[in-house]
Amino acid sequence: MTRHWRQAGTWHGYSLDQAFCDVLIIGGGFAGLLAARAAARQGMRTLVVSKGFAGADGVSAFAGGVVLYLLPEDDREAFQIEHSRLSEGLSHPEAVRRVAEANTQLLGELTDAGAPVERTPEGRPRRRWLPAAGRRYVPRLGFPSTELARFLRQEALRAGARVLDQSIITRLQRTPNGGFWAVGFRRQEGRLVAIRAKAVVLAAGGCSWRGAHMGQHNVLGEGLALGLDAGARFLGMEFCTSYLATCSLFDTHGQDVLAALGGRLRNRVGEDILERHGIEHPAPPHLTAFAMLTELRAGRGPIHFDLRGVSSAAREDWETQFHLVARGLHRTGVDIFEHPVVWLPGFTGSIAGGGGVRTLDLAGTTEVPGLFAAGDAAARLALVGAGSGITFLNVAWALVSGHWAGLAAARHAAGEELSATGVDELLHGLLETTVRPLCELAPAPAETLDQLLRHTQMLAVDPERNFFRTPERLQEADAQLDACWERLHSTTVNDWHNLGRWYELRAMMLATRAMFHSALARRETRGWHRRLDYPERDPALEKIWLVAEPTSDPSEERLPDFTVRPVELDEPEAFHATACEEGAA
Ligand SMILES: Cc1cc2nc3c(=O)[nH]c(=O)nc-3n(C[C@H](O)[C@H](O)[C@H](O)COP(=O)(O)OP(=O)(O)OC[C@H]3O[C@@H](n4cnc5c(N)ncnc54)[C@H](O)[C@@H]3O)c2cc1C
Repeated sequence: MTRHWRQAGTWHGYSLDQAFCDVLIIGGGFAGLLAARAAARQGMRTLVVSKGFAGADGVSAFAGGVVLYLLPEDDREAFQIEHSRLSEGLSHPEAVRRVAEANTQLLGELTDAGAPVERTPEGRPRRRWLPAAGRRYVPRLGFPSTELARFLRQEALRAGARVLDQSIITRLQRTPNGGFWAVGFRRQEGRLVAIRAKAVVLAAGGCSWRGAHMGQHNVLGEGLALGLDAGARFLGMEFCTSYLATCSLFDTHGQDVLAALGGRLRNRVGEDILERHGIEHPAPPHLTAFAMLTELRAGRGPIHFDLRGVSSAAREDWETQFHLVARGLHRTGVDIFEHPVVWLPGFTGSIAGGGGVRTLDLAGTTEVPGLFAAGDAAARLALVGAGSGITFLNVAWALVSGHWAGLAAARHAAGEELSATGVDELLHGLLETTVRPLCELAPAPAETLDQLLRHTQMLAVDPERNFFRTPERLQEADAQLDACWERLHSTTVNDWHNLGRWYELRAMMLATRAMFHSALARRETRGWHRRLDYPERDPALEKIWLVAEPTSDPSEERLPDFTVRPVELDEPEAFHATACEEGAA
């Protein structure tokens, strides 16, 4: 392969930058940056492409700042027992054990290298215990997410990776002679980008349906759509329907941490809503969401969060640990610890649910040779099952899965020979489809795109359709989705910014379709997935994961249906919980 990193040229009147690399990482959150660091350290020419500024966009830079930190002397069995209860029979204990252990090792390495984590006066990482996400036993480490994301960007650059910021990948395809073409554009400069890579790590985050929480504006399932385009499948999409309580004054999160400190969610008549539904503290997020949404539906809203039971010492401690949120709340001028204010169920989609691109092992191997998935883009069922990993496990997963996927991609790239091909037929087709919606003379489409965004959100986010699920409601929403897709494909956009929004909508609609079809296939209620016609857990679906595969080419103009089939999570062909890249040099 040519040594040229980047070549500037033109294609049909558009500026075109072509780049060649061994490992391409799509996404610049925790997972992407760790993957880049790992691959670059193997001597691979590594390129990170990020929609915004890698290390400052996506969800990672806005995470609550809590990560699991289990040490060898901890009672790991207690942790596992509690965890497997909350993941409702769908996590893999060996996968959980490996990720927890690798995360401790990785965090140790990163803190030695100067990572900004909370430290003791002696400079050692400071551990805390706090019940969170329904668990009593969570030894964890606090970190300022913005600073950690910035630090990880520097780590990736120090290892030799290059970063292409403000660039959106729109199409990804494996080529017949090996490797991939990834096509997209630099949105500020309006230049097309075509990247030839031997291996690709999808780390473009989950699908939040542009949810309410900070950082979620940027993750609309493009990693999932790119995986699908390249031939990968989805897993666990029925668990993408998560809602985390958020403060109405300032988009925030961490309700479960505040509840653990003594906060109580109360309905209009002052009842503790968890008590009312027989849910014990600390409640897992899906049961808190259930209680909130049920109360609102029954007309007993709004829900206030009563934090007057939180001691001043606990409050001070919380404000130190969650300083980003505390600062935002302070600016509202309302002391929420003294005056209970309204909290709302904020949709988080797959960020707190577990669905995503199907991987066959912990190294992020997908069904497409050379394509790996990490972080929120990858299905996290092995780790969180039907429950949620938010507030401690998701960050651990993003770091560790990114690291392993980076190593695995490097290993794959080392065995792959590629030659630069210029603009071949495949690339020509990918460039052509990328710019197809773009017509610079078209009338401003912002309104249509806004309407389509709101319409799709209404289908996916409305709890009446997608939380209190019935086949009829899902099918009705699914039919409306076809109309949205058709409208999107008949919409032209007049600038590169709106072209980016066009692709976000495309990805979001594909994720919605897969979610609906998976939800129709799982005939039970478990974790985030709730069916009114099957209100109980079905023992026959214990340890059963659902794989969703499109029945037609997703790049065609018809929204594909998905066939959904069960796989048993203990079967080796379903998932290798021991295959990871821990030992790679
Ligand atoms: C409000 C909030 C608080 C949270 N707090 C915690 C916590 O305290 N502890 C915890 O464990 N978990 C927490 N989580 C979850 C955790 O932050 C995420 O699971 C994790 O950060 C995901 O990292 P990621 O790298 O996979 O994705 P992201 O950080 O979302 O990164 C995705 C990247 O992909 C880029 N991208 C997207 N599409 C494209 C494209 N087409 N082309 C190029 N680039 C693209 C984005 O710009 C971004 O750089 C929280 C989540 C939320 C929403």
